[in-house]
Amino acid sequence: MPAKKLIAANWKMNGSRALIETVSQQLTTLNSEVDVLICPPATLLAYFPVSGHYSLGAQDISEHAEGAYTGELSGGLIKEAGASFVLAGHSERRQYHAESDQLICAKIQQAVTAGLTPVLCIGETLAERQQENTEQVIAKQLAAVYASHPELLAKSVIAYEPVWAIGTGESASPEQAQETHAFIRRQLAEYDSKAAVNVRILYGGSVNAANCQALFTQADIDGALVGGASLKPAEFMQICQSAKD
Ligand code: PEP
Repeated sequence: MPAKKLIAANWKMNGSRALIETVSQQLTTLNSEVDVLICPPATLLAYFPVSGHYSLGAQDISEHAEGAYTGELSGGLIKEAGASFVLAGHSERRQYHAESDQLICAKIQQAVTAGLTPVLCIGETLAERQQENTEQVIAKQLAAVYASHPELLAKSVIAYEPVWAIGTGESASPEQAQETHAFIRRQLAEYDSKAAVNVRILYGGSVNAANCQALFTQADIDGALVGGASLKPAEFMQICQSAKD
């Protein structure tokens, strides 16, 4: 079983230097029973005070190591800005930037090469769930990365984020999430059985202070990827506190 829960904040295109100050101050009161990751817009990364209380991550990474790719950020640049994690394949990037599974695989390879831990985001749309295709969709998203590169699994975090639950206020129920997390772990075991036991599988989709506790009691939920509620420092702290075993 993964050692500690990981609570990750995805600020998306939000945040400010003022928010950094509030959040980083609050997090100093948290002890080390939970791992915390903040993924702000990349321009804010360098403004976080150096502290042992949380890790930093970017929200996207280029599939290239360097070169003439205007507007892109390489793994090396992200690392130099102070991050040690990076999100890959968030549904908003799959949807608004037409990111394919192949592209996401290349981004994960770049992340690992640069020494960053990729957080691979996967999940089904509402239509796919209604058609009972959830497992098929997720299996395909995982296979696109780990079937050809099983060695990347031990270096990854997975975030199960049903698209219908992101930013909608409608979280998956703890039982629904657990069922899918258990499926994800079984699938991953086909690529690397040892890594599958230890890989952290986060749940994301309308997590808040009121619903997180029930999610965290599920056997295969190893933390959360939190969007909207991560912009409210007091609520985000409550979520982190709930994740202590
Ligand atoms: C997300 O953007 O990854 C997310 C889970 O958002 P929210 O918590 O707002 O649903």
